[in-house]
Amino acid sequence: MFKRLLATAFLAVPLVGSSQQILNRDPEIDRYVKAVSADSMRATVEKLVSFGSRHTLSSVSDPQRGIGAARRWTLAKFQSYAKNSGGRLTAQLQSWTLKPDGRRVDKEHEIANVVATLKGSDPKDDRVFVISAHIDSRALDIMNRDIDSPGANDDGSGVATALELARILSAAKFPATIVFLIVSGEEQSLLGAEYYAQQAVDKKMHLEAILNNDTMGSSAGSDIGTIDNTRLRVFSEGLPAYQTAEQAAKIRAIGAESDGKTRQLARYMKEVGERYVENLEVVLIFRNDRFQRGGDHTPFVNKGFAAVRITEMNENFDHQHHDIHTENGKEYGDLQKFMDFEYLRKNAAVNLATLANLAKAPQMPQDVQIEVRGSASYAKLNWKAPKAGKVKGYYVLIRETYQPFWQKKLYTTETSITLPYSRDSYFFAVQAVSEHGNESLPVIPLPSR
Ligand SMILES: [Zn+2]
Repeated sequence: MFKRLLATAFLAVPLVGSSQQILNRDPEIDRYVKAVSADSMRATVEKLVSFGSRHTLSSVSDPQRGIGAARRWTLAKFQSYAKNSGGRLTAQLQSWTLKPDGRRVDKEHEIANVVATLKGSDPKDDRVFVISAHIDSRALDIMNRDIDSPGANDDGSGVATALELARILSAAKFPATIVFLIVSGEEQSLLGAEYYAQQAVDKKMHLEAILNNDTMGSSAGSDIGTIDNTRLRVFSEGLPAYQTAEQAAKIRAIGAESDGKTRQLARYMKEVGERYVENLEVVLIFRNDRFQRGGDHTPFVNKGFAAVRITEMNENFDHQHHDIHTENGKEYGDLQKFMDFEYLRKNAAVNLATLANLAKAPQMPQDVQIEVRGSASYAKLNWKAPKAGKVKGYYVLIRETYQPFWQKKLYTTETSITLPYSRDSYFFAVQAVSEHGNESLPVIPLPSR
């Protein structure tokens, strides 16, 4: 039914992409994706593990052991990449003092995030895209800051990914800004992410997407036989956590409970990630996080930002949050030898393709509306050009209401379109597209007034 409609009624609108036709890759992004190196990330993880413990409450002054030394090394790494950037990449520590909270912080302690910023080249474009990971590690006892807690995969994998992307993208010149955010205090209750997210609110940052990478470099699950190096999970909330009663009523009125901006970001990541990375499927999980568990994207979604969690297909619980030991011949602990760096390479590349495509794209189209007058057997959409960015045209996305992913992608250079699809029976969205084919995040239409 769907295909027939398209073939008969749609000849006037060129079909640029669909599930049957792969969109062209941007050669610049393709080049960056090919530069992602498993060896480079292995070296990073090895170095992170060498700090013994990166517990949030471990030493901040010891030159070799503890989270302070690990943060200083990470900062220096970003600063070394900054040399290729012509002054666009800068990095600093964002530090503050933790107060005892009676839960996972038992004494006053210095905490810091490492924040590296690749400044956008368009002064009119204030968008910021963030890749985040946590540098802190833990063992079985959440308060034990002295025992070895290598944190190779949780979350050395995420830190290595952010550093690898900074290494490659430091020479790139994108209109929008990318932030490589290495937070502390994830295991002590998402402290660093909460701090940064609140700063983003206070400073009115135009944060358009947060990709939180946590535990994404091991392809072997806890159970024998669950080895999967071709699938990566992206978690996204459905109904937005942050909403007023009025916003919630609007979502209900148009049935947009699976069309919040975080869900759109997840779909975007799947489409763009799979466009650039071979032999990898991005599996969307339609819930905010793993069952009854949390992560650093949550402080962001709770404040109204679009933020997803990226995690390997099968977590291995023998190698997570354990003390290093052997029991009945089985090894426990989050050690580097249990990771799969070729899998991590692909997962990092999905992040890179997504961030680069977002930062090269124009801003999202404005005032996207769907006409509510006239026959409901068609859909008339109109919108305005984005605030910033060079637009070559727009993609109009279509899917049946019960489908998880966009099914059709139509191209137009106009700012309105009449589609022979009932506005009652389909969902729609519009993306702005650059001359190199980089598309913005999609915007769903609101009813015209
Ligand atoms: Zn973690």
